[in-house]
Amino acid sequence: MVHKLIPLADWFPADSWPLLACPDCSSGITIDRQRISQFETFESEESHGHEDFEPLWVHGHFHGQVNCGNSRCQLRIVVVGDFKVDYADGRGRIEYLGQQWDEYYKLKFTHPPMAIMSRAEGVPDEVWSLVTDASRLAWVDPAAASGRLRAALESLMDSFKITKLKPNRKPRNLHDRLKDFETKKPDAAQFFLAVKWVGNEGAHGNRGLTSVDVLESAELMEHGFQLLYNKSAQLLQKRAAAINKARRLPRTRTKK
Ligand SMILES: [Zn+2]
Repeated sequence: MVHKLIPLADWFPADSWPLLACPDCSSGITIDRQRISQFETFESEESHGHEDFEPLWVHGHFHGQVNCGNSRCQLRIVVVGDFKVDYADGRGRIEYLGQQWDEYYKLKFTHPPMAIMSRAEGVPDEVWSLVTDASRLAWVDPAAASGRLRAALESLMDSFKITKLKPNRKPRNLHDRLKDFETKKPDAAQFFLAVKWVGNEGAHGNRGLTSVDVLESAELMEHGFQLLYNKSAQLLQKRAAAINKARRLPRTRTKK
């Protein structure tokens, strides 16, 4: 499965935004370019006078407002990011010396944040507030976002009363706590352990984390939450296990 926000992690044509869902009601977000302004940096503007000038030198920032298309919600979101001119993919909006060019945007920040995962009913508020922080940081600082997802896992372990301190009163590391948790909830634990490894890479690895890494972690974490809290997914899993055990439809229905 590919995270629906992944197209937003890369440059996209300024007049063809990826499809976005409203963080409040999940309806589609409407983009009106009239409500988005862009400007060049001073250096970019100065470069137009240079004898070797070419459109690839043009860069700057954009800011604006996008709206939820659902008339009963109409959430308004502030968007901020970088702007550049690059070769057009096909026919572009700008023609210069016989070449087709287009304007491209890269998102850096939205307020309120675009949710990087949907919330399963039952996820504790303390855990969810850290996930929301991660959503806020996903574009502007992926390593920090990954740290917030890790903090959300610590908070989840607290909510399951997984021992926090060693006998010498020093804090236990997240890995050991997740291994304890694995004995209670093995299916969900696999997904949270994977998120923890990606977070380690962000904190200590040589490679910088990207927004795509954060989105992929969010997808794993969302699935872990579904396994923990989504009752219908649990019931389906129980039913499948009962059928597999009986090798037929069992006589008694699995209890709710
Ligand atoms: Zn909405």
